[in-house]
Amino acid sequence: MARRHRERHRSGRSGWLRAAVLGSNDAIVSTAGLMMGVAATDASAQATLVAGIAGMVAGAMSMAAGEFVSVSSQRDAEQADIAKETQELADEPEAELKELAGIYHSRGLDKALAMQVAKQLTVHDQLGAHLRDELGIEPHNRARPLQAAWISAASFALFALVPIIALLIAPRGLRMETIAAITLGSLAGLGALGGKLGGAPIGRAAFRVTLGGALALAVTFGIGRVLGLTL
Ligand SMILES: [Zn+2]
Repeated sequence: MARRHRERHRSGRSGWLRAAVLGSNDAIVSTAGLMMGVAATDASAQATLVAGIAGMVAGAMSMAAGEFVSVSSQRDAEQADIAKETQELADEPEAELKELAGIYHSRGLDKALAMQVAKQLTVHDQLGAHLRDELGIEPHNRARPLQAAWISAASFALFALVPIIALLIAPRGLRMETIAAITLGSLAGLGALGGKLGGAPIGRAAFRVTLGGALALAVTFGIGRVLGLTL
């Protein structure tokens, strides 16, 4: 039991962190690609900077809105489950007690012990036990749409700063090179981190992420070049 618990805990943490690392990829690649496309038209540093900041703000808002909608619907589903379970506990306490004991029995306790555990937990916190062990809802870990929204907006904005800062510190005449180098360097670092957290080979993870970023920058650079020449 202890081993199982620890493993679940670990994958929960790495799932959360991996989502953050993937989100940071989005922020870096989309902002850098936008700036690269604008810079490739021979736009001024100022225009490139405005494009980067606009991309950062738009991306952060869109992340916040998307996350708010998705976590809200998750919360609605949780609330409906909790209301239904509360009603069932009031209507059929005996059947619910047997159901709970059945869950502990299926996890490896013998029948008598499972019933004893179910009875004690029912006295201690009936609804909490059913939410946790029957529905997989941790009462202290409920979905929070607003919190999810502002965290994903803030993390997008934070990582979008990577190519923006690269532009600000770039030497004259080396703007695109500096943006590309710093962008790809941070992608490699984040890819390695993501691989480590997910237990994947670090080099391969870093290479994939960096290759994806390099392709994105090459494409937006090419499009900016063509548009800059033709428009
Ligand atoms: Zn139940």
